[in-house]
Amino acid sequence: MPLYDYRCQECEHEFELQRPMDRRDEADCPKCGSRRVKRLLRAFATLGHSGGGSCSSGGSGGG
Ligand SMILES: [Zn+2]
Repeated sequence: MPLYDYRCQECEHEFELQRPMDRRDEADCPKCGSRRVKRLLRAFATLGHSGGGSCSSGGSGGG
């Protein structure tokens, strides 16, 4: 099941739940139990993280 993000409109608690796609709009707030929750759009995973890649070229010996 896909994971969805929700925000409770009663206590503004944000949480995530695994829901089937056809019932993704049905969720209960785990904090106050309210049904007035709004589904948030989950941000896409960003590809590639900036980082210094250490390229070690050539190698002599070693063990
Ligand atoms: Zn709540």
